[in-house]
Amino acid sequence: MELVKKLAKQHNLTDDELRQILVTDRFDSMLMQEADKARQEIYGRDVYIRGLIEISNYCKNNCYYCGIRGENKNLTRYRLTKEDILYCCEQGYGLGFRTFVMQGGEDPYFNDDTVTDIVYSIRSKYPDCAITLSLGEKPAESYKKYFDAGANRYLLRHETATEEHYKKLHPDSMSLEYRKECLFTLKEIGFQTGSGFMVGSPYQTVENIIADLRFLQELGPDMIGIGPYITHKDTPFYDKQSGDLFLTIRLVSILRLMFPYALIPSTTALGTIHPQGRQMGLKAGANVVMPNLSPQNVRKLYSLYKDKIATDEEAAESVEKLRRTVKEAGYEVVCSRGDVKK
Ligand code: SAH
Repeated sequence: MELVKKLAKQHNLTDDELRQILVTDRFDSMLMQEADKARQEIYGRDVYIRGLIEISNYCKNNCYYCGIRGENKNLTRYRLTKEDILYCCEQGYGLGFRTFVMQGGEDPYFNDDTVTDIVYSIRSKYPDCAITLSLGEKPAESYKKYFDAGANRYLLRHETATEEHYKKLHPDSMSLEYRKECLFTLKEIGFQTGSGFMVGSPYQTVENIIADLRFLQELGPDMIGIGPYITHKDTPFYDKQSGDLFLTIRLVSILRLMFPYALIPSTTALGTIHPQGRQMGLKAGANVVMPNLSPQNVRKLYSLYKDKIATDEEAAESVEKLRRTVKEAGYEVVCSRGDVKK
């Protein structure tokens, strides 16, 4: 059977077949077509919007690729207060957002008490909204507290599923084994769980990407976020190349076909490396966008990578503009919570 058809039908391929699809643009238009079909069968033309609140750029970790790594002294640090965050939610709710995503560096200030207090306040004020956290690795007890306080979803990209590659991207203080364990714990607690990886991160091979896909199959995530690696001047990887737009798009389609039910965002990083990146992601099978709800004055400071877009469609204020862009791509922004249809 032809490769793309087989992937669409069986939601799986052998390593060798995946390798064939990953290394060429030969299958791209067919991949996109099939991925779009698969997405429409489950999610129709709906595109879910999430209001992203970047709560802190303090981080105790030192991931070599990340602009907000603790050792970057070239960055003004900020953290939002509970009031700031609630204000973002209020603005977002008015704009039609029914999911709030709180993301941040691993900032010790946001300990269990602080996080649960904020989650509980949002939960009480907005019973009809989903609360997503993306605050890195925590002990199981902490995750459980956040869940009990009212959080529904958790995003934690595994970054790379290959031990050897993981070591090239992170200092020895971090471990792939623990990160994976966190993901299984999150699932077990009952979170809708999201994982993912960067495409074209330094030293990444095709075999690494295949391992990433295999790990995702093992995890069975509800959400899968991928985006191109984008270089940042104030990191040890300042001289490394950014990831490839087309490989990222190809992978969005492959993910849609392997995980038809998954919520897959067309990420900010995609929109950053190409002006049409966001729309291309949607056409390739993505069905979520996460515009920025953070206060204007801190957006530039959450600088994971260079030139991260913080204007126009990225900004939650311009939901109308986003709506038009999404419509132009052939889809429809909807204002529901947008839970996984598994
Ligand atoms: N501290 C949280 C949030 C990290 S930032 C956590 O550990 O999950 C969210 C994501 O941004 C990361 O998971 C990573 O995949 C991505 N990211 C970080 N630096 C990047 C870069 N230079 N280019 C592209 N994506 C990057």
